[in-house]
Amino acid sequence: MDPQPTPDILANKCPRCAAAVDPRLTPDLPGATSRVTRDGGARVVVCGTCGEREAMRAGEDWEAVPLTDWPVSIDTLLSEDRLRLEFMRNCVIGAELIGADDAQAMLDGEGE
Ligand SMILES: [Zn+2]
Repeated sequence: MDPQPTPDILANKCPRCAAAVDPRLTPDLPGATSRVTRDGGARVVVCGTCGEREAMRAGEDWEAVPLTDWPVSIDTLLSEDRLRLEFMRNCVIGAELIGADDAQAMLDGEGE
């Protein structure tokens, strides 16, 4: 089941960071399902940036910020955003062209 937008998102506020979210400027709404609530709890939708922040925390083995500490403090958000920016700076994005035969071989699981 797709996550349903939470009332906060509908009110144009991310419940995790409390930042204003304008649905007209954020075509990817409803954003991300918070990792805090993925395992059995009610799904809570956060903004896409908070989805990335939670992913960065998980990558660093930092504990998730519990719902009881939401909205997350500005200092914590800044720490998370430092991780995001460092990750984005060190990211290498590449692309290459492949032919139809190569594409079919990849789909067939060859060349692994
Ligand atoms: Zn947010």
